[in-house]
Amino acid sequence: MPSLSVFGAQWGDEGKGKLIDLLARDAEYVVRYQGGANAGHTVVVGGEKYILHLVPSGILHPGKVNVVGNGVAVDPLKLLEEIDGLRARGVAVSGANLRLSASAHVIFEHHKLLDQLAERWRGEGRIGTTGRGIGPAYADKAARIGLRVCDLLEPGHCRTRLKAALAEKNALIQKVHGERAIDLEGQLDRYTSLAERLRPFVGDTGAEVRAAFRAKKRILFEGAQGAMLDLDAGTYPFVTSSNTGASGIPAGAQVPPRMVERVIGIAKAYCTRVGEGPFPSELKNATGDRIREQGHEYGSTTGRPRRCGWFDVVAARFALELSGADGLIVTNLDVLSGFPELQAAVEYELDGRRFSTWPAHLAHFDRVQARYTTFPGWSQDITGVRRFEDLPREARAYVEWLEREVSVPIVMLSVGPERDQVIPRGFQPL
Ligand code: GDP
Repeated sequence: MPSLSVFGAQWGDEGKGKLIDLLARDAEYVVRYQGGANAGHTVVVGGEKYILHLVPSGILHPGKVNVVGNGVAVDPLKLLEEIDGLRARGVAVSGANLRLSASAHVIFEHHKLLDQLAERWRGEGRIGTTGRGIGPAYADKAARIGLRVCDLLEPGHCRTRLKAALAEKNALIQKVHGERAIDLEGQLDRYTSLAERLRPFVGDTGAEVRAAFRAKKRILFEGAQGAMLDLDAGTYPFVTSSNTGASGIPAGAQVPPRMVERVIGIAKAYCTRVGEGPFPSELKNATGDRIREQGHEYGSTTGRPRRCGWFDVVAARFALELSGADGLIVTNLDVLSGFPELQAAVEYELDGRRFSTWPAHLAHFDRVQARYTTFPGWSQDITGVRRFEDLPREARAYVEWLEREVSVPIVMLSVGPERDQVIPRGFQPL
């Protein structure tokens, strides 16, 4: 099949980087369609760790075309830093294997500054942004005062647009937040020289991907963050500023919806969440701390400790349904080794009402309590297991139970960070 899309079915950090890197082997195009440098995909190859923020994970395989689509919010500084970092480690990056959409919106200094100032302004009501300017850049896109990569490449045009944007942003920075204004000339110098370095990568990536599809090339769409952080369907306002599931692909890669063929969700065998916001199955106790330590659950971009909890069936089912997932890949199953018992959230409760499907309409999501089913754990190290039947009986029972609950086949399990630490379960490559 020419297209496969992979998305996070929880709150992000599901281990997408490793899986996308693995699946990219069979792809000819790897396409990012949303998010910005707040996503941090960790890929371990031969003991070497690569953390990719904007560049699609396919870059680690020679001969693939990696596309940063129009729906991605691009910080030119971060993108170039990432390209330089990859080149320094011997990874070839050129306009032939990395393509950047001319229509992608650009993150400027004022977006980053305002992201941080707005979070400070919110105080107790903060939403836990990473402060990388992504939300403000998307807001400017919707407000039609943003600049795109193509604007950056035309110095005269860039001056006019940036001047207009800064006039308004500087008023906010100075008069509301009491901070120093951002200098237009300094910004123009900096960003136009960054633009020249980006020029070889820039093109009409929508047209390129559509042509690739017509030519029956194998295309992998790579989602960032997770379904529960989706701007429209997630736990608003504690969400990211883009559409994270398969629904984000048509607009964010400029392809018709019918080009989104097979869809696979990725979820950990437990749950984590970074930042603020509802997380019904969170464990604020020693068990949560143990998951964090065993799973090394600290943000790859920010280093922030992740909030940890048991697998949430209610949320996962909703995420898979939303994207029309054909299958699920469960990662980090190895992290659960050694727990005497495991639990999974099967229902929510609020003020005496029970919910077994996602209660999207709840204003008081933060007060929802999860109700659990308990399973016996296993003590064996499973990182070396490569066949489902070789897993401990309890691990198999847990996976089979999850599969029934989410009503989607679990097509692969991941039992460690390395590319080969997977247990296939009927996954069909591209
Ligand atoms: P992403 O944003 O979804 O790519 O997830 P992250 O990269 O933030 O987090 C995944 C982390 O788990 C990384 O450190 C990976 O190397 C690691 N990882 C991925 N799959 C597995 C797995 O099956 N088991 C273990 N123990 N670690 C994994």
